[in-house]
Amino acid sequence: LRARKSEPAGPEPIPGIARIIAIASGKGGVGKSTVAANLACALAQQGRRVGLLDADVYGPSQPRMLGVSGRPASPDGKTILPMRNHGVTMMSIGLMTNEDQAVVWRGPMLMGALQQMLTQVQWGALDILLVDLPPGTGDVQMTLCQKAQVDGAIIVSTPQDVALLDARKGIDMFNQMKVPILGMVENMSTHICSQCGHEEHVFGHGGVASEAAKLNVPLLAEVPLDLQIRLASDGGAPITVSQPDSAQARAFHDIASAL
Ligand code: ADP
Repeated sequence: LRARKSEPAGPEPIPGIARIIAIASGKGGVGKSTVAANLACALAQQGRRVGLLDADVYGPSQPRMLGVSGRPASPDGKTILPMRNHGVTMMSIGLMTNEDQAVVWRGPMLMGALQQMLTQVQWGALDILLVDLPPGTGDVQMTLCQKAQVDGAIIVSTPQDVALLDARKGIDMFNQMKVPILGMVENMSTHICSQCGHEEHVFGHGGVASEAAKLNVPLLAEVPLDLQIRLASDGGAPITVSQPDSAQARAFHDIASAL
């Protein structure tokens, strides 16, 4: 069937942005934003022109993780200048609201805010725009896939059954939206005691690897549950920036190299 002219426009590429990659999870708190921030910095270190759009409306943590604050300027009153740190061009819904203000927007407002961040921010020329999505399968995910041509999604999960269950729903949604799954990341994979070196699998082990194998998608990295990763993110310089040669940073570089 040929599309008729009167039919609504499908997803379109955004001028200047070569690839859009969504970072998604089924559940909250599994480390999706941590992966997005570290991956963005790793890509920048590899010489890629990278942007990070923080669309996690319910918990926008990228300003803190990337050490960015203040309100983005709009010199012409129409477009918005993005922020930049650690070589990453970024914009966050958290910079459009107060940090301790809850976002109690209805669907249409969320969609409007997302569309504004996609099309009115002066992203410039980018090789990759990462989009840090809210957890789950709601309005923001649908709007992104409908309005912009998303080239692929990376699914972050812990090895825990409850997280994997929700991750599967996320994968199903991307399949329905015809967005390819680029791979899965197992976060909080192992914990190594900083005192005695004992290794423990706090959330189980291998669950994401076996899920990825079942779905025939790559397992892009296994990221340990690690105090340094948490401290670095809270301090505004992700571990890929603050300890670029560490084993932890290498896990994020593995993901970057696969893109
Ligand atoms: P999400 O975006 O999935 O809600 P976050 O990235 O905000 O999750 O992570 C939730 C919390 O867990 C944050 O405090 C973060 O610093 C911490 N965290 C995430 N991944 C790790 C990790 N691999 N090791 C230690 N702490 C982590």
